[in-house]
Amino acid sequence: MADATQKVIVITGASSGIGEATAKLLASQGNKIVLGARREERLNEIAEAIKSAGGEATYKVTDVTSIEQVEALAQTALDAYGRIDVWINNAGLMPHSEFIKDKVNDWTRMIDVNLRGVLYGIHAALSTMREQKSGHFINISSVAGHIVGPGAGVYAATKFGVRALSDALRQEEALAQSHVRVTTISPGAIATELTDHVTDKEQKEAMDTFYNEFAVGADRVAQAIAFAINTPEDTGMSEIIIRPASQQ
Ligand code: NDP
Repeated sequence: MADATQKVIVITGASSGIGEATAKLLASQGNKIVLGARREERLNEIAEAIKSAGGEATYKVTDVTSIEQVEALAQTALDAYGRIDVWINNAGLMPHSEFIKDKVNDWTRMIDVNLRGVLYGIHAALSTMREQKSGHFINISSVAGHIVGPGAGVYAATKFGVRALSDALRQEEALAQSHVRVTTISPGAIATELTDHVTDKEQKEAMDTFYNEFAVGADRVAQAIAFAINTPEDTGMSEIIIRPASQQ
């Protein structure tokens, strides 16, 4: 079992927002961070910032829709540090639109990144964690994994899905007495780049208005993730919902 403050932690979608904030916080707590995302320049900057602050980090350019690239991310962690203690499935997209807009490409991208990407992460790390007899998956869902509204159908379907697969995994690992923990984190409105990629003009305007009014910083989610990771190994923090106090 790894020391509580010296874990090897892989984070997908680590090039901005919640992933970046989490990487920096967990590195500052003494953990070894392996960053994955598509934008290499950003990953390099974040890894360098962590190292300049006295922390330890490496990165691998990773598109989570590619099983080979997710496997390579896991291998990067194993090559660098010899184990994987925590795998944070964080990469995600939220291009909301109503069904009548027929944005099939956005539907497909969300399913590929938000769901398939999470499954590939489990694929890449679970057997290693079983062999270690220790491990922890943190899967990022959303308040939209609990409630749905107009325009949010596909995003919510992926985030309900993340909660479903996470709880099945948690139950399987509990039954197997594998010492692999599973935590689902469900954030509300967090100020990140998430709304930048909304392709529907009306949805984007509505979301920008909502986020400008309510959103809080990604550091709050990072703290919740760190809290889940730092609970004693015999304790499972199954789910955390974290949202701005003023978000309904
Ligand atoms: P950001 O847009 O800032 O971060 C999303 C991250 O996902 C980026 O690092 C991006 O990196 C990465 N990403 C996107 N597509 C891929 C891909 N194909 N392969 C690998 N990485 C990818 O938004 P957030 O930080 O807000 O989002 C993080 C998670 O939090 C998401 O799962 C989101 O659904 C969830 N969430 C966010 C909320 C919010 O209000 N912000 C609320 C609820 C949940 P790159 O482009 O470099 O690949």
